[in-house]
Amino acid sequence: MSDVDGIVLGMGPGGEEVAGRLAEAGLSVVGIDAGLVGGECPYWGCVPTKMMIRAAHLLAEARRIPGVAGSATVTPDWTPVAARIRDEATDDWDDTAAVERFVGKGGTFVRGRGRLTGADTVVVDGRTFRAKRAVVIATGSTPAIPPITGLSDTPYWTNHDAVEAKELPASIIVLGGGAIGAELAQMYGRFGVSTTIVEASDRLLPSEEPEAGDVLADVFGAEGIDVVTGAGASEVGHDGQFHVTLDDGRRLSADQLLVATGRRVDLAAIGAESIGIAPDARSLPVDERLRVTEGVWAVGDVTGEGAFTHVAMYQAQIAIADILGESHVPADYAALPRVTFTDPEVGSVGLSAEAAERSGVDVSTSVVAVPNTARGWIHGPGNAGVIKLVADRGRGVLVGATAMGPSGGEVLGLLALAVHARVPIEELRSMIYAYPTFHRGIEDALRHLE
Ligand SMILES: Cc1cc2nc3c(=O)[nH]c(=O)nc-3n(C[C@H](O)[C@H](O)[C@H](O)COP(=O)(O)OP(=O)(O)OC[C@H]3O[C@@H](n4cnc5c(N)ncnc54)[C@H](O)[C@@H]3O)c2cc1C
Repeated sequence: MSDVDGIVLGMGPGGEEVAGRLAEAGLSVVGIDAGLVGGECPYWGCVPTKMMIRAAHLLAEARRIPGVAGSATVTPDWTPVAARIRDEATDDWDDTAAVERFVGKGGTFVRGRGRLTGADTVVVDGRTFRAKRAVVIATGSTPAIPPITGLSDTPYWTNHDAVEAKELPASIIVLGGGAIGAELAQMYGRFGVSTTIVEASDRLLPSEEPEAGDVLADVFGAEGIDVVTGAGASEVGHDGQFHVTLDDGRRLSADQLLVATGRRVDLAAIGAESIGIAPDARSLPVDERLRVTEGVWAVGDVTGEGAFTHVAMYQAQIAIADILGESHVPADYAALPRVTFTDPEVGSVGLSAEAAERSGVDVSTSVVAVPNTARGWIHGPGNAGVIKLVADRGRGVLVGATAMGPSGGEVLGLLALAVHARVPIEELRSMIYAYPTFHRGIEDALRHLE
């Protein structure tokens, strides 16, 4: 049994931040990870997928040259993308630098799969660690594989295989039209892969405003991606090719199948029942200080508060302050921003109109098509998008917004501040918006808001 001040189980973005900062504060800290320090984001998530998307975006921009700026011949090549991911993003999936960074701060790193055996103890490969001050659970999430007949017997891809691929398939079916599926499907299409995206809900990006999914489906269609919505996969087979039978009877075939149907948290695997949490719960319930129970905190995807690196980092700051006994603002997700890095990017914050109505808000909305704004019209090809505002009529503030368009994630910044700081709509209307920027479209949308 080794006694320490703190144990951090899972060293993804959330755990790495907590463990490093507690060690820097002088606490004896053990950081445990079964995989790579840094977690999903730098090795198989945000960073490498955004490198892929950047490359695909360059191809798309080059294809927009005709009719605007001359002519261009575009020949996609995956080689530099795979090399950049291997060499620049992931160091060939080697976390030596991250481990050294943590150890350099005074932490102790243990590679292995840990399991809670009580509120203050974690067992890793037969070694037991006991925390005097804090156990922090930051074990993240893994791909949720749906129980589709035949699927588990096939060599389907998850985001891990997609990111590690040295070559692209000639054709691919992407199961799941959420953020990850949509981002990767568009990227494949732009690299010349014959691509079909399948989403069981009636539109792409089902958790976003309907306008966003509709515009994205049009963009995908124009780029030659087959979009199937309103039909899920009921059976999958593999005989060298993948064959997917949809529940409406249609049959699709392709060289590769990517499963991007969401993420899951495995509480049974981390021994959550030892702290009184049902092992089949969807996530670890945390309070506004990120406490699960006395002496146990959790941050990141495992909390179910939003599977984003910025959520893990935000929660990490609060948990660190709480553990160190410093004052902090309680966690609040009312202005949680999220970006789907398709082209156009879909940035959104706070509540959708439907969610706001469901929660009893007296909602008024306004939607402006980006091509109808000054900058959108000037931009020309690639200008698809919408700006949608969701206001609380009673309070006179925005409770949600979507900025979909070129650099939609950047335009979102202003809207995220407005929702976060509850800036009165009259105040937003009195601002000067630079001409002709994409964010000036927000002024147009405000004008149409009741
Ligand atoms: C394809 C893809 C693209 C994404 N793009 C974005 C994006 O653009 N922007 C964004 O904000 N987010 C993005 N995300 C989400 C982001 O990667 C996650 O929200 C973030 O990594 C969560 O961090 P975390 O700290 O919860 O842990 P994770 O990154 O999930 O890491 C958890 C760590 O815990 C370890 N672990 C798990 N169980 C145990 C155990 N029992 N013992 C020891 N170690 C264990 C794992 O090995 C892992 O290293 C993307 C995700 C994917 C899959």
